[in-house]
Amino acid sequence: MKHYLNFIDGKWRDSESILTVNNPATGEPYATIALAGIDDAEQAMSAAQKCVESGSMTKVRPAMRSGWMLKAAVAIRDIADDAALVLCRENGKTLADAKDEFLEAARYFEYYAGLADKIEGTSVPLGDGYINFTEYLPFGVSVQIVPWNFPVSICARSLAPALAAGNAVVVKSPELSPLAMTMLFNAILDAGFPSGALQLICGEGKEVGAHLVRHCLTDQIVFTGSVATGKRILADSASSVTPSVMELGGKSAAVVLEDADLSNLIQSVKTGIFFNAGQVCSAMSRLVVHESRYEEIKRAVTELASGLSIGHGEHQPDITPLISREQQTRVLQMIDKARDDGANVLTGDAALDTNGFFVLPTVIEATPELDIARQEIFGPVIVIMPFKSEQEAIGIANGTEFGLVAGVFGENLNDALRVARQLRGGQVFVNEWFAGGVETPFGGVGLSGFGREKGQEAIFGYVQTRSTTVRIAESGRTDDSSAE
Ligand code: NAD
Repeated sequence: MKHYLNFIDGKWRDSESILTVNNPATGEPYATIALAGIDDAEQAMSAAQKCVESGSMTKVRPAMRSGWMLKAAVAIRDIADDAALVLCRENGKTLADAKDEFLEAARYFEYYAGLADKIEGTSVPLGDGYINFTEYLPFGVSVQIVPWNFPVSICARSLAPALAAGNAVVVKSPELSPLAMTMLFNAILDAGFPSGALQLICGEGKEVGAHLVRHCLTDQIVFTGSVATGKRILADSASSVTPSVMELGGKSAAVVLEDADLSNLIQSVKTGIFFNAGQVCSAMSRLVVHESRYEEIKRAVTELASGLSIGHGEHQPDITPLISREQQTRVLQMIDKARDDGANVLTGDAALDTNGFFVLPTVIEATPELDIARQEIFGPVIVIMPFKSEQEAIGIANGTEFGLVAGVFGENLNDALRVARQLRGGQVFVNEWFAGGVETPFGGVGLSGFGREKGQEAIFGYVQTRSTTVRIAESGRTDDSSAE
């Protein structure tokens, strides 16, 4: 089995402990990685701090950082095919989706390369007696904690703007899927970033992750993961008042209006909830359908789900395995509980009879107050519910504590936009789930978190504003004017 390492202070390093990573499609061990401990975390933090103190990220012209990032983008594209196989085998996702993660990672580097030399301050007018200017300064050491569902693209989503702004970064990879991230780092090492600008360590969240969060050298935290861990991190970072970006979970609803186009909707349901086996923070996990279309759409979604292919990511199926046995058990238990609570399971609700961690695509008819309609499942499970009036639809869609994404499907754009503007969520999709991209801001409200990733706006999560105001002495100016 191949053994992967951590990257600290410009070098690949082994560790005393070893973590085995399983292939979710077979349940078999796939590779091992050095499991970082507190000592490794200390070394990573001190390397990042040395980089900050040296000024090697900030004394250079920002265009220099742009250049490094553009080289990194090219290098990431070059390895996308080979590295996708590793991501597919450690994570379970399809080869094509794994490759897309690397291509998206390259786009983040390219996109924020374009911004690195345009993080411009302003000058606030204060009258003749003063001159003011603002600057956007990097935080210093940015600690970034990454989840397993899109480890490569989410890593790049936070890493690229942080580097563009001139921070040094310590990334903690997720225990369940840390391997392909080492390939991302390996690809960008020769792009020119100074030593200590980026470290990657794979450690246990509760031990190493928590240590990084509480570390006195941590200037900023970027966390992407579950609400429970996000709350823990906020509590742990409260005493040091460390600023953070929190990208947490969701329970996103699509509202289907009377005039929605059926084939367009079904295409969006397919990607919205069954892509990556539903292990997507912004998954379309609830479908709220006008009563006049309810039976037709319920039938179409059930047919879609029961007709999907299921298998190893290497064979490009519609449905891939879940990340772990624990996640598979959790999803099946949630479905069982939904049935006990009175929900109607229309299709799915079973594991495949293999050693892989599969769950059949599942469609559940439920009422909005049930747990299955309110809690994040993180599996290939969609809950469908009818509504009578627009206000009822909005009430159901906004009726959870989350607020990551919401959507509307309907041909009359006046109606669709009227509903869209009343939905709670950091982003709203109209007539296509996952519409948008690297360029469009992404983040949550409520329990889904705060701060925004992606787009130009994200850069402001990686800098702090400094305002400088200078008083201009009156005398010189008076003398000058009297001389005229
Ligand atoms: P998780 O919260 O279990 O773990 C995320 C990361 O946090 C891992 O690297 C883990 O090791 C680390 N961690 C765990 N405990 C920690 C602690 N006490 N201190 C510091 N770090 C700790 O989440 P997960 O299961 O990896 O990911 C799934 C969750 O992530 C879902 O809820 C999903 O919605 C969310 N997610 C959100 C977004 C977004 O952009 N909003 C994107 C992807 C995933």
